[in-house]
Amino acid sequence: MNPSRRSAGILRWRVALDAVLRGTRTIRGRIFLAFLMLSAITAGLGGYAALGIMTTGELVDKTYDRSLMSINYARAAASDLAALQATVARARLAGDAEERRTLETRIEQLTQSFEEDLEIAADRAQSERATREAAAAKDAVTHWLAARREFGPDRQTVDVWQALDAHAAVAEQHIDLLINFTAGDGFAYRQTARAVVARDVRLSVFATALAIILSGIVSLLLLRQIMRPVADASTVASRIAAGELSVTVPEGGADEFGALLQAMAVMRDNIAAMMQAEVAQRRSAQSLLADAVQGSIEGIVVVDPQGRIVLANERAAALLGFDPAETGHRPLSEARGSAVADTLLAMPGSGTLTAEAQSADGRWLRISRSPTREGGFVAVCSDVSLLKEQEDQLKRSNSQLDAALSNMLQGLCLYDAAGGLLVYNRRFCDMLGLDAGELRTGMSLREVARLVETTSNDGSAFGLLMEQQALLHRGVSGSLCCPIRKDCIVSLKQQPTAEGGWIATYEDVTQRYEAEARIITMARRDALTGLANRMVFGERLEEAAARLEDGSGAGFATLCLDLDRFKEVNDTLGHPVGDGLLRSVAERLQSCLRETDLVARLGGDEFAIVQAGTHARQDASALAKRLIAAFQQPFLLDGHTVTVGLSIGISLAPEHGTSPEKLLKSADLALYRAKATGRGCWSFFEEEMDLELRKRRAMESDLRTAVGNGEFELVFQPIVKLDRQRIATCEALLRWRHPERGYVSPAEFIPLAEETGSICEIGEWVLRKACSEAAKWPGGIGVAVNVSAVQFKNAAVVRAVMEALTASGLPAHRLELEITESVLLNDSVTTLATLHTLKRLGVRVAMDDFGTGFSSLSYLQSFPFDKIKIDQSFVRNLGETGNARLIVRSVVGLGRSLGITTTAEGIETEAQLEQLRLEGCEEGQGYLFSRPVPSATIRELVSTLGRNAA
Ligand code: C2E
Ligand code: MG
Ligand code: MG
Repeated sequence: MNPSRRSAGILRWRVALDAVLRGTRTIRGRIFLAFLMLSAITAGLGGYAALGIMTTGELVDKTYDRSLMSINYARAAASDLAALQATVARARLAGDAEERRTLETRIEQLTQSFEEDLEIAADRAQSERATREAAAAKDAVTHWLAARREFGPDRQTVDVWQALDAHAAVAEQHIDLLINFTAGDGFAYRQTARAVVARDVRLSVFATALAIILSGIVSLLLLRQIMRPVADASTVASRIAAGELSVTVPEGGADEFGALLQAMAVMRDNIAAMMQAEVAQRRSAQSLLADAVQGSIEGIVVVDPQGRIVLANERAAALLGFDPAETGHRPLSEARGSAVADTLLAMPGSGTLTAEAQSADGRWLRISRSPTREGGFVAVCSDVSLLKEQEDQLKRSNSQLDAALSNMLQGLCLYDAAGGLLVYNRRFCDMLGLDAGELRTGMSLREVARLVETTSNDGSAFGLLMEQQALLHRGVSGSLCCPIRKDCIVSLKQQPTAEGGWIATYEDVTQRYEAEARIITMARRDALTGLANRMVFGERLEEAAARLEDGSGAGFATLCLDLDRFKEVNDTLGHPVGDGLLRSVAERLQSCLRETDLVARLGGDEFAIVQAGTHARQDASALAKRLIAAFQQPFLLDGHTVTVGLSIGISLAPEHGTSPEKLLKSADLALYRAKATGRGCWSFFEEEMDLELRKRRAMESDLRTAVGNGEFELVFQPIVKLDRQRIATCEALLRWRHPERGYVSPAEFIPLAEETGSICEIGEWVLRKACSEAAKWPGGIGVAVNVSAVQFKNAAVVRAVMEALTASGLPAHRLELEITESVLLNDSVTTLATLHTLKRLGVRVAMDDFGTGFSSLSYLQSFPFDKIKIDQSFVRNLGETGNARLIVRSVVGLGRSLGITTTAEGIETEAQLEQLRLEGCEEGQGYLFSRPVPSATIRELVSTLGRNAA
């Protein structure tokens, strides 16, 4: 072997040895090594046993192959020899040559067989002597057969036969010896085999003993190196596991056991540290728990299996009726009589139970018992009085809610977030024709719909629910309205709830629908006359205008109609008659029209007509004439014969425009003109009317800013006591000094201010100004202020008067308010109340322009006026022949008898003055005494008039 290969081999061995040594440091390595050694011992022992068995087998082979075979062939050779002898004898004796030849052949065969048998016997023999004897036997036979041939068959002498037999005997002798020797060899071999077996048995016993000893040594090593340290470690581990943390962990070596023991020591220390930490934690938890238990608002009692109180916090002690310091270890039964103890003692079994009880002071307690591991129990007592009260309240609210739901006029359904039916009311079932028993909470809307489908006759109700389902599917709130039966229309409103579900209400809106339908009809008809109303009139105008514009229609006329003095009829004969008149007027108007024309009532006594297909002014004039003629005939109403005239304004399309608004406005302007011209007239629209209107509008707008701009001023006209020509009062008359228009007459702007409503602001200014000026005059002279009917439409006039008096300091009796009968025309009840209030303030009230109205006399009855101002038209006509003088006389007489002062307006001449004096009129006003003058001139006037009188 070369040196390099040898050192490589040594290295390999070293590595293996190191691995083994390292292995012996670990438990696994040691156990592996021990088992390796035991396996090697077992393998050696087994190998040795197999070797012994193989040797014994070989002996058996040899016994058979050699000894027995050798004996057998020796015996076969003996038998061949005997047969050969017999055959030789027969051949020598055979006379027939043929027979002899046959026997000779036989002899050859036997000789060959004999030799072969001998050869095998010698070959298998175990000894040389047998081999030698076999060779000798062969030689003897060879010699015998040679002798036979030598003597030939002719020599049949005894000698020959003896010589031949002697040769044969030699051969037999050798054969016998051969048989004996082979038998002896077999025996000798058996002896040898036995000796071998005996030796092997001995060696096996020795080997087994050796194996046992070696195994014992290995086990001992195993015990010392592994089992004992394992047992020690296991004992230590068990003790640690049992909580014996003071156990000493033996010192280990540098091997794996050492590491294991070291780890166990660390583990023990860690466990000890953890336990200490846990104990500390537990202690703190226990103290926290104890604090919690003590501080708990719930009463907590722990009772041991013997029924003694182990622990009870202050609350529990109080509930049990014990002193907290003396509660421990007292039997629970001692607290009998308290609601808590009685309830706990009455609880059956030992399991977890909860009961409620009412304490002596009326509070409700909920007592829960839970068993402890020791066989006692823990009881927790909570004051649930508030909860109970809330529950009761909830029950009450629920029953109220139920009542509300049951009595609701609307059907109601509430579904949860999963789409299950939560709440529904009786009305819902009634409405959809459902039996309340068929509905279940949790049903989906689809299921409810299916139920409705099976119970309702037609599918309308089902359809409603399916529409609702579609709404739901889209996830939107909404409302639907549809008929569910012939006599029932349902309005459904559906919206989501905060909880993710949704709520639906079903309202029977049949009546509302019918009412709405009626309203729609009414909205197009005038309720009183049954004529078309303003809206329909507007639509018809628009249609006609549109047809005209697109060339499909002809021109048309718009007529605005107004009844003359209708208001007076209404006021004198009462509203029912007025209504009857309007109905009759409507019929009469209708009778004058063609089917293609339309008459509408626009409001009050205003009517309008669209006359279709008007080609010329003549058509419209003809209709206007016809209408006015028709109104010549009086109306018979409830026994009253009433005559009213008709004024008509006409605009023509396209001549005066095509827009409905323009045409109506133009006809209205024309009506205004017709009325101004004289009652019972008609008038066509003219462009100047529009101009007038525009002027009016401009004035209206100027009027609105006039007070603010200080454009108004007051002049005062004295009212003189006719007997002594002394100024009794001065009437405040308003003047508007317009920056561009100059002085504008009150007759021009007051009606406009009344129409636009600015008269209220103006009137208040007049009151304030008149009072403040009058306050500067000599005592005894009063001031008369004209108050418009519009100012009486609200109670502001009272406030305005009071403010004016207060601000000026003028005594109330020096203020006189002049009103015209139009004030009393409006709303006599409210107006009279206002007048009475003013009178109570001390203010005087005069009726202005007496005699120009329709029923001035009747107003004298309704209110105690302080003064009547006879209209200047009567004074003007005094000199003429007529009724003026008589009227003045009767008014003066009437005033005297009623105790009312009479004042004549518009005295311009001495003659008029004289006549009025003669008639007994007390006061007079007119240019004869003075024109209206500024306030500052009044003082001067007082003395002038006084001098004149003197
Ligand atoms: P009225 O209250 O009947 O006032 C008398 C009117 O007759 C005054 O006209 C006055 O200047 C005029 N007048 C007085 N004496 C004579 C006379 O001898 N001959 C003629 N021809 N006329 C005479 P005025 O100032 O133009 O007022 C007209 C109307 O305007 C007043 O009639 C009154 O109804 C109204 N008015 C005037 N000022 C006010 C006011 O401050 N408030 C209200 N609401 N209406 C006022
Ligand atoms: Mg007046
Ligand atoms: Mg007057």
